[in-house]
Amino acid sequence: MSEPLNPRRPRRNTWQPKPEISSLLRVSGNPINGVGEGTPRRPSPFFWHPPDQHPWGELQIVARQNSRKCPGSAEAFQAASSYPELNAVSATRNDAPAETLTEEVRRFALSNEADDIGIAPMDPLYVFDGYAIDHPLVIVLALAHNYERLREVPSDETNGVGVCDVGDQYAKGTRSSYTLANWIRAQGYQADPYPGPSAGALVLIPPAIAAGLGELGKHGSLINPRFGAGVRLAGVTTDMPLIPTSPRRFGADDFCSTCQVCTQACPPGAITPKKQMVRGVERWYVDFDKCIPYFAEAASCGICIAECPWTRPAVRPKLLATMARRLGEG
Ligand code: SF4
Ligand code: SF4
Repeated sequence: MSEPLNPRRPRRNTWQPKPEISSLLRVSGNPINGVGEGTPRRPSPFFWHPPDQHPWGELQIVARQNSRKCPGSAEAFQAASSYPELNAVSATRNDAPAETLTEEVRRFALSNEADDIGIAPMDPLYVFDGYAIDHPLVIVLALAHNYERLREVPSDETNGVGVCDVGDQYAKGTRSSYTLANWIRAQGYQADPYPGPSAGALVLIPPAIAAGLGELGKHGSLINPRFGAGVRLAGVTTDMPLIPTSPRRFGADDFCSTCQVCTQACPPGAITPKKQMVRGVERWYVDFDKCIPYFAEAASCGICIAECPWTRPAVRPKLLATMARRLGEG
């Protein structure tokens, strides 16, 4: 058997959670996420919502503490949770046509740290249960990882390069979503930002897929055609009249049906090889009860997104070409 890629990565199925972590797993997270449910429903607020509001709150606190022990991580995540002021909505409205406003939003976002942008009509299923969002549109911003830094994951006290890149992308998401919301407000429209890593009212991957920013990978993360799985997301909801962007199928979902890179690389073996029914949708699903304990011990892990072939800059163009051919033949 070949050696692990870096000394911080245990081989698959050789890792067991520490007793102090196991003792925090009092209920399964999979039913909370809706695994096995055939009827669509809103997601339940869970991990990364306030820790006193869900049954995995203590583990979430440990996960955060372990992440912050890594060199540079506390500063990176501090920047991600430093929220700029939100300005009042201007009384004067920019009445340009939707085409013009859409192009202006796009240009503004891309020149203010976003690496990609998509727009989706709001769907009630994008809003966590118990929350409300009135705006008719979701703008999703993609923030691309630095692959050379991301591939250093997982992080620990000796090496924080990977988790710092996670924090840096979330910090970009905070700044870019707030800056865009303020720009839209200055045009006389409502806009609210929803950056990560803490969760708020809005789920981000489903509107990102609807807006053409990517497809869902077997590892449960978005695969973007330009950046692979090395992206973080931030949202802005708005009532500005904008033209939604279309979903884009480029072959990631098809490729996942035969690829096993992430299933083999995941130390706790959390990535299930077959799609499952989750809240009325048959989709890829990561076993929450297996992933999160390792994620908590290993400073936010990230191995699956770093190892995904779509994330590797040297491989992605060939994959895109191969899958374009296959989709064309199909
Ligand atoms: S590693 Fe392979 S199976 Fe996993 S998400 Fe990426 S392409 Fe899909
Ligand atoms: S983030 Fe979760 S699913 Fe991905 S490799 Fe780590 S433990 Fe596995």
